Amino acid sequence: MTGKTHVAIGFAAAVAGGRLIQPTSFENYPNLLLEGLSSRVGIQLLAMAIAVWLGSMAPDLDQPGSTLSRNIGGPLGRTKTTAFVGGLSLLYLATRLPVMLSPIPYLQVGLLIIGCILLLMAILKHRGLTHSLLGMGLACVAVHWGLLVLLSDGVSFAASLFLPFLIGYGAHIVADSFTNSGVAPFYLPFMPKTQKHWHFPLHIRTGSFADKVVLRSGALFLIIVGFLH
Ligand SMILES: [Zn+2]
Repeated sequence: MTGKTHVAIGFAAAVAGGRLIQPTSFENYPNLLLEGLSSRVGIQLLAMAIAVWLGSMAPDLDQPGSTLSRNIGGPLGRTKTTAFVGGLSLLYLATRLPVMLSPIPYLQVGLLIIGCILLLMAILKHRGLTHSLLGMGLACVAVHWGLLVLLSDGVSFAASLFLPFLIGYGAHIVADSFTNSGVAPFYLPFMPKTQKHWHFPLHIRTGSFADKVVLRSGALFLIIVGFLH
């Protein structure tokens, strides 16, 4: 399934999920948007949207060349070779960072995170671990740790970003189980029987009309309906 379709489905799931979990807060969202991003609530809303976007795209980090792989790794995220060489180089740079650069906030931790992501991109098989419940759990642990760091740095709404990420990630796996390649939801490393791909009887081809038009418009329709009601 294409990245844009995943993002559209992720936002539709987040709007629907938000209404089920906390219906009243979502009713005010159009008004909150009008308040502009200068308000703290506006910034929180933008951060929640970024969390949904990241969650919706994160599973495809196992595929060099995907939108998020290129957004995070730049030219290093294009192929498995560039990701491997780039990942090792960034990890080396992070540990050997000159003292004069170390005061730049988050530079070292940023290099470490991007380096690790690039190495995972080079090593992982597409639609393997990242498209499973185990992968989702591991990603949630990593995101939870990152949000705790933000919380300790004074970003008070950091805790509210976890659920949007989780919904985006879960929606990605469910959506890919409706494609002809399918997913292995109970994937475990070194256990081939658990790595067999499975898809729903009704499934579509990535890049087809159903993927690019039908699903995207359907998701957009649900988002609009979610905001209006
Ligand atoms: Zn995927």
